[in-house]
Amino acid sequence: MALIVQKYGGTSIGSIERIQNVARRVAKWKNAGNDMIVVVSAMSGETNRLIDLAKSIQAQPDPRELDVVASTGEQVTIGLLSMALMELGVPARSYTGWQISMLTDSAHNKARILEIDEQNMRADLAAGRVIVVAGFQGVDAAGNITTLGRGGSDTSGVAMAAALRADECQIFTDVDGVYTTDPRIVPQARRLRTITFEEMLEMAGLGSKVLQIRAVEFAGKFQVKLRVLSSLTEPDIRVDEEGDSGTLITFEEDKQMEQALVSGIAFNRDEAKVTVLGVPDKPGIAFAILDPIAKANIEVDVIVQNVGSEGTTDFSFTVHRNDLMRTMDLLTKVKKDIGAKKLIGDDKICKLGLVGVGMRSHVGVASKMFEALAADGINIQMVSTSEIKITVVIDEKYMELAVRTLHKAFGLDEPTEPAMPV
Ligand code: ASP
Ligand code: MG
Repeated sequence: MALIVQKYGGTSIGSIERIQNVARRVAKWKNAGNDMIVVVSAMSGETNRLIDLAKSIQAQPDPRELDVVASTGEQVTIGLLSMALMELGVPARSYTGWQISMLTDSAHNKARILEIDEQNMRADLAAGRVIVVAGFQGVDAAGNITTLGRGGSDTSGVAMAAALRADECQIFTDVDGVYTTDPRIVPQARRLRTITFEEMLEMAGLGSKVLQIRAVEFAGKFQVKLRVLSSLTEPDIRVDEEGDSGTLITFEEDKQMEQALVSGIAFNRDEAKVTVLGVPDKPGIAFAILDPIAKANIEVDVIVQNVGSEGTTDFSFTVHRNDLMRTMDLLTKVKKDIGAKKLIGDDKICKLGLVGVGMRSHVGVASKMFEALAADGINIQMVSTSEIKITVVIDEKYMELAVRTLHKAFGLDEPTEPAMPV
């Protein structure tokens, strides 16, 4: 008998019919002899609706009260799913974040999980009940309701699996796994049967929306076996078949298989580029530029500084698009002190990256990437690399072309199974 945590996202429980399907799926796993914990999101669109309600009263909603409002979507779905399970003859019990004591810090709207009390849940499991837990929400030490940030119920699911030392955490979603890239852009994109934890972390960091990055970090830290799979398949498909479907996030590289150079391509249009032109080329300048930004809690990503000539240099970095205006305002204030000639903000960019543990043992991945982009006349504005990732910033109008070109250039268009030798 295994202990399995399943997490269902908004689209998976977006209607009564889908909630009933989820109940059938959970019942099937339970009846196969497993202990089951189910973590759910709000119905799709519901969290947006709740946040909009708050914003219609306060343009900048009070963070504590926003959590009180935004967390309610999940309270609805846990109750409904528990009822749907009971209708199938499966004993079930729902819990909100505070009822199970999903203890978080007090950073409203982006709280971090600190501890989960497993006592009650152990008793329920022993009594044969399915436990249905509200994702996305927690409670701080003072008893305030907190939420974990958008998409946070992935993290709730992984945290439950870590706390109860589950055998597997299954994240059910509206796609059937992690793909080499977004199939809406490249129809030849393929589902990966496995991806390493490191790669998944880089993919999430680059903007792949399949899993919330915090959930991946959490899984890495606590070595949670994580699988992404579809909730839109026939709910009655066999447990062993379903258990082997989707994408498994592994902790070990597959030694037997010749590692592909690149496992996936991720991209996003959520960032903007800031360039500070003509700053003195001397120690302390990068700090002087970035310090006010860090103090304003704005996250900075790709950073590039040019080689100086005639005592000055240019300094560029990316921030989230929503933070561009604030960043420009902050820099305008310090521009004179820094001695910068000009500030440029550009939100017509996209960030795109190749990810693959296979890169570690190969040279020339970057040059191959640049060659392919050059052949399509795509200019590279910024580059950054890590051991298993190469990121470029390009004009957003070339995003789709670049993704297609690179998907092909790195052999990702081809089927995984090598053709049988004749
Ligand atoms: N319902 C929350 C949101 O929309 C949490 C989640 O779906 O993961 O962000
Ligand atoms: Mg999600």
